[in-house]
Amino acid sequence: MQRILEQAAEIDLQERLCDRCLGRCFARLGTGLSNEERGRALRVVLAMLQGREPRYVSPEACAICRGLFHSVDAWAERAFESVEGYEFRTYLVGTRVPPEIEEAERELWKRYGIALKQAEPLKQEFNREVGRRLRERLAARGRDATVDFERPEVEVLLDLPRNRVERKVHSLYIYGRYRKLVRGIPQTKWPCRPCRGRGCPECGYTGKQYPESVEELIAEPVLEAAQGEGHALHGAGREDIDALMLGRGRPFVLEIERPRRRSLDLKELERTINERARGKVEVHGLKPVDRRAVEAIKGLEDKRKVYRARVEFERPVTQRELDEALAKLVGEIQQRTPQRVSHRRADLVRTRRVFSMKGEMTGGRQAVIEVVAEGGLYIKELISGDAGRTRPSLSEMVGVPARVTELDVLDVLGEVPFETEAATETQAETTAEEPS
Ligand SMILES: [Zn+2]
Ligand SMILES: [Zn+2]
Repeated sequence: MQRILEQAAEIDLQERLCDRCLGRCFARLGTGLSNEERGRALRVVLAMLQGREPRYVSPEACAICRGLFHSVDAWAERAFESVEGYEFRTYLVGTRVPPEIEEAERELWKRYGIALKQAEPLKQEFNREVGRRLRERLAARGRDATVDFERPEVEVLLDLPRNRVERKVHSLYIYGRYRKLVRGIPQTKWPCRPCRGRGCPECGYTGKQYPESVEELIAEPVLEAAQGEGHALHGAGREDIDALMLGRGRPFVLEIERPRRRSLDLKELERTINERARGKVEVHGLKPVDRRAVEAIKGLEDKRKVYRARVEFERPVTQRELDEALAKLVGEIQQRTPQRVSHRRADLVRTRRVFSMKGEMTGGRQAVIEVVAEGGLYIKELISGDAGRTRPSLSEMVGVPARVTELDVLDVLGEVPFETEAATETQAETTAEEPS
């Protein structure tokens, strides 16, 4: 108590500070007061103790803020304008304060022994004041948004030294599973090989190796609805271009960059995607998630996958020979990076597990084989042996060269932490705020 008054008296006597900046030195002491009220109250008590009039310093003459807070309304207006066209429920305002102000503030605290736990930096008060007015402006348009320090959907940075407002609109994330029903479509966009995506006669100036991808088929309707500026598909692993993805489908998180709309009718979007991509790609269980889901999806890459391979042997093989060979393949497989991907993957030997294998000869030389294996095991090479780079392999165990003629992924096993029964209950059920 005594200490606060001593500090206040000293600052009041020695420094040219406005009420707000004086009060901010004691901001964390007591609640329900503005910094201005705090500073004023201290000055009134000091005046009473010393039998004189309270001292007054105008904000313009203040050695710290120099009247900066007069601009709070103008900055709030600019902040509002910068995010006006964007829908969001959470936001965060940040301020880049001129270095000389921060410097003056630190000097002041040091000179009078003001502890950081009792004072508040100017920057923080500025953020709060602009944030509060921004919220009022949004509310006046019928929009409800709250401050979120952890994962705001939109961030506004007030750059005071450069006199500009920077807007950061965080991505929108949607979880789901996809099934791929045709061969020949890559999971994500492949840049054209000859031109590396710049566009050339070979790719018809699309810059793409394949005209469409699972990603584009899923993302485009969402991108339109969200009025975003770009997209990315984060899959729990990927199947080969010529493989189908069947069963429950592969978990993915679709990221839409800088969306203007966030409350999307995901059931409706699911229908649109499935209609437009009919016969090629199918999605289900679309559900809003946040960016942490991307990590969770990547974690699923190493989980178990179920594959079905059509295999052709060079010479006839009996069912018994096949069964014996398959039994020997369950366990650890040493797999050196396959020749077909070695141009884009590091050349090393990985150990991956095969959990189960069963198969049936469907002709003298043809078989259908089902494999449950750890993610990351290349199945085509598990069958062929890849010239000895994968060991053991089916070719090696049967003693007859074999190759995969068709490969499909039947399932991606493992629990997805945020995949629940309510996965199809979407944001659509809460009423959307219309961005004005
Ligand atoms: Zn001031
Ligand atoms: Zn090209």
